[in-house]
Amino acid sequence: MINIQTIGIIGAGTMGNGIAQACATRGIDVVMVDINQAGVDAGLATIAKSLDRLIKKEKMTDADKIAALARIKTSTQYADMTTCDLVIEAATESEALKIKILQQLDTVLPATTLIASNTSSISITKLAAATQRPEQFIGMHFFNPVPMMALVEIIRGLQTSDATHDAVKALSEHLGKTPVTVKNAPGFVVNRILVPMINEAFFVLAEGLATPEDIDAGMKLGCNHPIGPLALADMIGLDVCLAVMNVYVAEYNDGKYRPCPLLKEMVAAGYLGRKTGRGVYTY
Ligand code: NAD
Repeated sequence: MINIQTIGIIGAGTMGNGIAQACATRGIDVVMVDINQAGVDAGLATIAKSLDRLIKKEKMTDADKIAALARIKTSTQYADMTTCDLVIEAATESEALKIKILQQLDTVLPATTLIASNTSSISITKLAAATQRPEQFIGMHFFNPVPMMALVEIIRGLQTSDATHDAVKALSEHLGKTPVTVKNAPGFVVNRILVPMINEAFFVLAEGLATPEDIDAGMKLGCNHPIGPLALADMIGLDVCLAVMNVYVAEYNDGKYRPCPLLKEMVAAGYLGRKTGRGVYTY
Protein backbone atom coordinates (compact mmCIF):
# COMPACT_ATOMS: atom_id res chain seq x y z
CA MET A 1 0.00 0.00 0.00
CA ILE A 2 1.31 3.46 -0.94
CA ASN A 3 1.74 5.44 2.28
CA ILE A 4 0.61 9.08 2.13
CA GLN A 5 2.17 11.28 4.82
CA THR A 6 2.79 14.58 3.05
CA ILE A 7 0.24 16.20 0.76
CA GLY A 8 0.60 19.12 -1.62
CA ILE A 9 -2.48 21.22 -2.31
CA ILE A 10 -2.76 23.52 -5.31
CA GLY A 11 -5.13 26.41 -4.62
CA ALA A 12 -5.77 27.88 -1.16
CA GLY A 13 -9.37 28.89 -1.93
CA THR A 14 -12.62 27.54 -0.50
CA MET A 15 -11.82 23.90 -1.21
CA GLY A 16 -8.01 24.01 -1.00
CA ASN A 17 -7.90 25.49 2.49
CA GLY A 18 -10.66 23.13 3.63
CA ILE A 19 -8.69 20.12 2.38
CA ALA A 20 -5.54 21.49 4.04
CA GLN A 21 -7.39 21.80 7.35
CA ALA A 22 -8.84 18.29 7.09
CA CYS A 23 -5.35 16.86 6.44
CA ALA A 24 -3.42 18.90 9.03
CA THR A 25 -5.89 18.11 11.82
CA ARG A 26 -5.35 14.39 11.08
CA GLY A 27 -1.58 14.61 11.44
CA ILE A 28 -0.67 14.92 7.76
CA ASP A 29 1.98 17.42 6.64
CA VAL A 30 0.70 19.86 4.02
CA VAL A 31 2.28 22.15 1.45
CA MET A 32 -0.40 24.59 0.29
CA VAL A 33 0.35 26.54 -2.90
CA ASP A 34 -1.46 29.44 -4.56
CA ILE A 35 -0.50 31.93 -7.25
CA ASN A 36 0.67 34.58 -4.81
CA GLN A 37 1.48 35.03 -1.11
CA ALA A 38 -1.79 36.94 -0.51
CA GLY A 39 -3.70 33.88 -1.73
CA VAL A 40 -1.98 31.44 0.63
CA ASP A 41 -2.12 33.91 3.52
CA ALA A 42 -5.91 34.27 3.04
CA GLY A 43 -6.27 30.47 2.96
CA LEU A 44 -4.24 30.09 6.13
CA ALA A 45 -6.27 32.81 7.89
CA THR A 46 -9.49 30.99 6.96
CA ILE A 47 -8.12 27.77 8.46
CA ALA A 48 -7.10 29.56 11.69
CA LYS A 49 -10.62 31.05 12.01
CA SER A 50 -12.23 27.69 11.35
CA LEU A 51 -10.05 26.04 14.03
CA ASP A 52 -10.99 28.84 16.47
CA ARG A 53 -14.66 27.98 15.93
CA LEU A 54 -13.89 24.33 16.75
CA ILE A 55 -12.08 25.41 19.94
CA LYS A 56 -15.11 27.51 20.92
CA LYS A 57 -17.31 24.44 20.45
CA GLU A 58 -14.81 22.46 22.57
CA LYS A 59 -14.10 20.09 19.68
CA MET A 60 -10.41 21.02 19.71
CA THR A 61 -7.82 22.47 22.10
CA ASP A 62 -5.47 25.42 21.59
CA ALA A 63 -2.57 22.95 21.47
CA ASP A 64 -4.32 20.98 18.67
CA LYS A 65 -4.71 24.20 16.71
CA ILE A 66 -1.04 25.12 17.09
CA ALA A 67 0.01 21.60 16.06
CA ALA A 68 -2.31 21.61 13.01
CA LEU A 69 -1.13 25.03 11.80
CA ALA A 70 2.51 23.97 12.30
CA ARG A 71 1.91 21.13 9.81
CA ILE A 72 0.91 23.52 7.01
CA LYS A 73 3.72 25.05 4.93
CA THR A 74 2.77 27.59 2.30
CA SER A 75 4.44 28.41 -0.99
CA THR A 76 3.90 29.89 -4.43
CA GLN A 77 6.17 27.33 -6.13
CA TYR A 78 5.21 23.84 -7.31
CA ALA A 79 8.88 22.91 -6.80
CA ASP A 80 8.25 23.02 -3.03
CA MET A 81 6.00 19.96 -3.37
CA THR A 82 8.68 17.47 -4.43
CA THR A 83 8.60 15.74 -1.02
CA CYS A 84 4.83 15.13 -1.24
CA ASP A 85 3.40 11.64 -1.67
CA LEU A 86 0.23 13.07 -3.22
CA VAL A 87 -0.66 16.45 -4.73
CA ILE A 88 -4.34 17.45 -4.75
CA GLU A 89 -5.19 20.04 -7.38
CA ALA A 90 -7.97 22.37 -6.13
CA ALA A 91 -7.44 25.41 -8.36
CA THR A 92 -10.14 27.40 -10.15
CA GLU A 93 -12.56 25.30 -12.25
CA SER A 94 -11.12 25.79 -15.75
CA GLU A 95 -10.04 22.93 -17.98
CA ALA A 96 -7.32 24.94 -19.73
CA LEU A 97 -5.93 26.17 -16.39
CA LYS A 98 -5.95 22.71 -14.81
CA ILE A 99 -4.23 21.13 -17.82
CA LYS A 100 -1.52 23.80 -17.67
CA ILE A 101 -1.03 23.25 -13.92
CA LEU A 102 -0.88 19.46 -14.35
CA GLN A 103 1.65 19.64 -17.17
CA GLN A 104 3.91 21.83 -15.01
CA LEU A 105 3.43 19.62 -11.95
CA ASP A 106 4.21 16.51 -13.94
CA THR A 107 7.66 17.82 -14.86
CA VAL A 108 8.47 18.93 -11.29
CA LEU A 109 7.22 16.00 -9.19
CA PRO A 110 9.09 12.71 -8.78
CA ALA A 111 7.66 9.95 -10.99
CA THR A 112 6.19 8.14 -7.98
CA THR A 113 4.05 11.05 -6.69
CA LEU A 114 0.29 10.57 -7.03
CA ILE A 115 -1.86 13.43 -8.37
CA ALA A 116 -5.56 13.96 -7.64
CA SER A 117 -7.97 16.62 -8.88
CA ASN A 118 -10.88 18.02 -6.88
CA THR A 119 -12.69 19.12 -10.08
CA SER A 120 -16.51 19.02 -9.94
CA SER A 121 -17.08 18.68 -13.66
CA ILE A 122 -13.98 18.07 -15.76
CA SER A 123 -13.22 14.57 -17.05
CA ILE A 124 -10.65 12.80 -14.86
CA THR A 125 -9.52 10.70 -17.85
CA LYS A 126 -8.89 13.89 -19.83
CA LEU A 127 -6.94 15.56 -16.99
CA ALA A 128 -4.93 12.36 -16.46
CA ALA A 129 -3.94 12.44 -20.12
CA ALA A 130 -2.27 15.83 -19.55
CA THR A 131 0.32 13.99 -17.44
CA GLN A 132 2.84 11.24 -18.14
CA ARG A 133 1.41 9.29 -15.14
CA PRO A 134 -2.28 8.56 -15.93
CA GLU A 135 -2.14 5.41 -13.76
CA GLN A 136 -1.21 7.60 -10.78
CA PHE A 137 -3.95 10.14 -11.43
CA ILE A 138 -7.39 10.12 -9.79
CA GLY A 139 -10.36 12.32 -8.86
CA MET A 140 -10.85 13.22 -5.18
CA HIS A 141 -14.10 15.17 -5.05
CA PHE A 142 -14.48 16.72 -1.61
CA PHE A 143 -17.68 18.53 -0.61
CA ASN A 144 -18.06 22.03 0.79
CA PRO A 145 -17.37 22.80 3.66
CA VAL A 146 -14.65 20.13 3.60
CA PRO A 147 -14.04 19.90 7.38
CA MET A 148 -17.78 19.20 7.94
CA MET A 149 -18.83 17.08 4.97
CA ALA A 150 -18.36 13.33 5.34
CA LEU A 151 -18.17 12.29 1.68
CA VAL A 152 -15.25 11.98 -0.71
CA GLU A 153 -16.29 10.85 -4.18
CA ILE A 154 -13.28 8.99 -5.59
CA ILE A 155 -13.30 9.01 -9.37
CA ARG A 156 -11.30 6.46 -11.31
CA GLY A 157 -10.16 7.61 -14.73
CA LEU A 158 -9.89 4.98 -17.45
CA GLN A 159 -6.22 4.38 -16.63
CA THR A 160 -6.19 4.86 -12.82
CA SER A 161 -4.34 1.96 -11.17
CA ASP A 162 -5.67 -0.11 -8.28
CA ALA A 163 -2.67 0.98 -6.18
CA THR A 164 -3.54 4.66 -6.68
CA HIS A 165 -7.20 4.02 -5.91
CA ASP A 166 -6.44 2.02 -2.77
CA ALA A 167 -4.02 4.64 -1.42
CA VAL A 168 -6.47 7.50 -1.92
CA LYS A 169 -9.33 5.47 -0.45
CA ALA A 170 -7.26 4.69 2.66
CA LEU A 171 -6.29 8.37 2.93
CA SER A 172 -9.97 9.45 2.74
CA GLU A 173 -10.79 7.08 5.57
CA HIS A 174 -7.82 8.37 7.57
CA LEU A 175 -9.28 11.89 7.14
CA GLY A 176 -12.46 10.62 8.80
CA LYS A 177 -14.41 10.68 5.53
CA THR A 178 -16.49 8.02 3.84
CA PRO A 179 -15.16 7.37 0.34
CA VAL A 180 -17.45 6.27 -2.48
CA THR A 181 -15.74 5.03 -5.64
CA VAL A 182 -17.30 5.92 -8.98
CA LYS A 183 -16.37 5.72 -12.66
CA ASN A 184 -15.52 8.84 -14.60
CA ALA A 185 -18.58 10.42 -16.29
CA PRO A 186 -20.00 13.99 -16.42
CA GLY A 187 -21.29 14.95 -12.96
CA PHE A 188 -19.77 11.77 -11.50
CA VAL A 189 -22.56 10.38 -9.25
CA VAL A 190 -23.69 12.91 -6.64
CA ASN A 191 -24.03 15.95 -8.91
CA ARG A 192 -25.49 13.76 -11.69
CA ILE A 193 -28.45 13.08 -9.41
CA LEU A 194 -28.53 16.30 -7.39
CA VAL A 195 -28.50 18.95 -10.12
CA PRO A 196 -31.29 17.41 -12.29
CA MET A 197 -33.36 17.19 -9.08
CA ILE A 198 -32.82 20.93 -8.49
CA ASN A 199 -33.69 21.58 -12.16
CA GLU A 200 -36.93 19.60 -11.69
CA ALA A 201 -37.78 21.76 -8.66
CA PHE A 202 -37.60 24.80 -10.98
CA PHE A 203 -40.01 23.09 -13.42
CA VAL A 204 -42.40 22.43 -10.52
CA LEU A 205 -42.10 26.08 -9.45
CA ALA A 206 -42.58 27.34 -13.05
CA GLU A 207 -45.73 25.20 -13.42
CA GLY A 208 -47.12 26.90 -10.31
CA LEU A 209 -47.68 23.58 -8.53
CA ALA A 210 -46.63 25.02 -5.17
CA THR A 211 -44.86 27.99 -3.60
CA PRO A 212 -41.05 27.87 -3.22
CA GLU A 213 -41.51 27.51 0.55
CA ASP A 214 -43.86 24.56 0.10
CA ILE A 215 -41.67 22.86 -2.51
CA ASP A 216 -38.71 23.10 -0.10
CA ALA A 217 -40.80 22.03 2.91
CA GLY A 218 -42.11 19.06 0.91
CA MET A 219 -38.61 17.79 0.10
CA LYS A 220 -37.30 18.47 3.61
CA LEU A 221 -40.14 16.79 5.45
CA GLY A 222 -41.08 14.18 2.84
CA CYS A 223 -37.59 13.06 1.87
CA ASN A 224 -35.68 13.99 5.02
CA HIS A 225 -33.37 16.33 3.08
CA PRO A 226 -31.68 18.87 5.39
CA ILE A 227 -32.40 21.68 2.91
CA GLY A 228 -34.95 22.11 0.14
CA PRO A 229 -33.82 22.02 -3.53
CA LEU A 230 -34.61 25.70 -4.21
CA ALA A 231 -32.81 26.95 -1.10
CA LEU A 232 -29.91 24.68 -2.09
CA ALA A 233 -29.88 26.19 -5.61
CA ASP A 234 -29.55 29.62 -3.99
CA MET A 235 -26.57 28.34 -1.97
CA ILE A 236 -24.82 26.67 -4.92
CA GLY A 237 -25.58 29.54 -7.31
CA LEU A 238 -28.25 29.34 -10.02
CA ASP A 239 -25.59 30.04 -12.66
CA VAL A 240 -23.56 27.04 -11.45
CA CYS A 241 -26.66 24.80 -11.57
CA LEU A 242 -27.43 25.97 -15.11
CA ALA A 243 -23.82 25.47 -16.22
CA VAL A 244 -23.87 21.90 -14.90
CA MET A 245 -27.14 21.12 -16.75
CA ASN A 246 -25.59 22.54 -19.92
CA VAL A 247 -22.61 20.18 -19.50
CA TYR A 248 -25.04 17.22 -19.32
CA VAL A 249 -26.85 18.44 -22.44
CA ALA A 250 -23.54 18.68 -24.29
CA GLU A 251 -22.08 15.41 -23.00
CA TYR A 252 -25.11 13.07 -22.85
CA ASN A 253 -27.16 14.61 -25.70
CA ASP A 254 -30.31 13.47 -23.87
CA GLY A 255 -33.41 15.68 -23.61
CA LYS A 256 -33.99 14.66 -20.01
CA TYR A 257 -31.29 17.16 -19.00
CA ARG A 258 -33.11 20.16 -20.60
CA PRO A 259 -32.48 23.16 -18.29
CA CYS A 260 -35.71 24.65 -16.97
CA PRO A 261 -36.55 27.90 -18.86
CA LEU A 262 -37.31 29.60 -15.52
CA LEU A 263 -33.79 28.74 -14.29
CA LYS A 264 -32.33 30.24 -17.49
CA GLU A 265 -34.52 33.32 -17.14
CA MET A 266 -33.46 33.92 -13.53
CA VAL A 267 -29.77 33.53 -14.41
CA ALA A 268 -30.23 36.00 -17.30
CA ALA A 269 -31.75 38.47 -14.83
CA GLY A 270 -28.77 38.13 -12.48
CA TYR A 271 -30.78 36.33 -9.78
CA LEU A 272 -27.93 33.95 -8.97
CA GLY A 273 -28.81 33.13 -5.35
CA ARG A 274 -27.23 34.12 -2.05
CA LYS A 275 -24.14 35.56 -3.70
CA THR A 276 -26.19 38.27 -5.47
CA GLY A 277 -28.67 38.76 -2.61
CA ARG A 278 -31.50 37.34 -4.69
CA GLY A 279 -32.28 33.96 -6.20
CA VAL A 280 -35.45 32.01 -5.57
CA TYR A 281 -35.47 33.78 -2.20
CA THR A 282 -34.34 37.31 -1.29
CA TYR A 283 -31.44 37.65 1.17
P1 NAD B 1 -11.81 29.18 -5.25
O1 NAD B 1 -12.00 30.21 -6.30
O2 NAD B 1 -12.32 29.45 -3.88
O3 NAD B 1 -10.25 28.83 -5.11
C1 NAD B 1 -9.42 28.55 -6.21
C2 NAD B 1 -8.01 28.97 -5.84
O4 NAD B 1 -7.12 28.48 -6.87
C3 NAD B 1 -7.82 30.48 -5.76
O5 NAD B 1 -7.26 30.82 -4.51
C4 NAD B 1 -6.85 30.78 -6.92
O6 NAD B 1 -5.97 31.86 -6.66
C5 NAD B 1 -6.11 29.44 -7.01
N1 NAD B 1 -5.40 29.26 -8.28
C6 NAD B 1 -5.79 29.61 -9.52
N2 NAD B 1 -4.84 29.29 -10.41
C7 NAD B 1 -3.82 28.72 -9.72
C8 NAD B 1 -2.53 28.20 -10.08
N3 NAD B 1 -2.12 28.23 -11.35
N4 NAD B 1 -1.74 27.68 -9.10
C9 NAD B 1 -2.15 27.68 -7.81
N5 NAD B 1 -3.35 28.17 -7.42
C10 NAD B 1 -4.17 28.69 -8.35
O7 NAD B 1 -12.44 27.84 -5.85
P2 NAD B 1 -12.99 26.56 -5.05
O8 NAD B 1 -14.45 26.73 -4.80
O9 NAD B 1 -12.06 26.27 -3.93
O10 NAD B 1 -12.86 25.43 -6.17
C11 NAD B 1 -11.64 24.76 -6.42
C12 NAD B 1 -11.94 23.47 -7.14
O11 NAD B 1 -12.79 22.65 -6.33
C13 NAD B 1 -12.68 23.62 -8.47
O12 NAD B 1 -12.20 22.66 -9.37
C14 NAD B 1 -14.13 23.36 -8.09
O13 NAD B 1 -14.90 22.89 -9.18
C15 NAD B 1 -13.96 22.28 -7.05
N6 NAD B 1 -15.07 22.12 -6.09
C16 NAD B 1 -15.69 23.21 -5.54
C17 NAD B 1 -16.72 23.04 -4.63
C18 NAD B 1 -17.40 24.21 -3.97
O14 NAD B 1 -18.50 24.03 -3.41
N7 NAD B 1 -16.83 25.39 -3.99
C19 NAD B 1 -17.12 21.73 -4.26
C20 NAD B 1 -16.43 20.63 -4.82
C21 NAD B 1 -15.41 20.85 -5.75
